[in-house]
Amino acid sequence: MDKDCLFCRIVAGDIPATVVHETDTTLAFRDIDPKAPVHVLVIPKDHHADVVALAAADPRVAADVLAAAAAVAEAEGLLPGGFRLMFNSGRDAGQEVFHVHAHVLGGRPLGPMLALS
Ligand code: 5GP
Ligand code: ZN
Repeated sequence: MDKDCLFCRIVAGDIPATVVHETDTTLAFRDIDPKAPVHVLVIPKDHHADVVALAAADPRVAADVLAAAAAVAEAEGLLPGGFRLMFNSGRDAGQEVFHVHAHVLGGRPLGPMLALS
């Protein structure tokens, strides 16, 4: 646990979150500023800065995060219509919280993968 990390503090229960799914190694909770009708963040309970660090340090837990994201998508009713699963990693992707998280987004047509500019 990193005491200065927002998502470690959510795992520890120091900061409230609306948890929708939990396993021994993962936690999933609703994004505080949802960008779609369903916007859930799936994280490993252990601290890793981004998906590159997680995949290198603990590939089994990386697989747990994917399985948890799939379980959330099913529980949220997203499987018929589909959903987007997204990891922002680093500056160019605009990563804001440096505790790796998968965004599960869905509940409406999501449009093109990237904003065109
Ligand atoms: P990133 O830009 O790092 O991929 O995504 C960070 C996400 O964390 C954003 O979508 C943001 O809305 C969400 N977020 C930031 N602070 C909090 C918080 O305190 N609680 C929850 N549930 N989500 C947060
Ligand atoms: Zn952390």
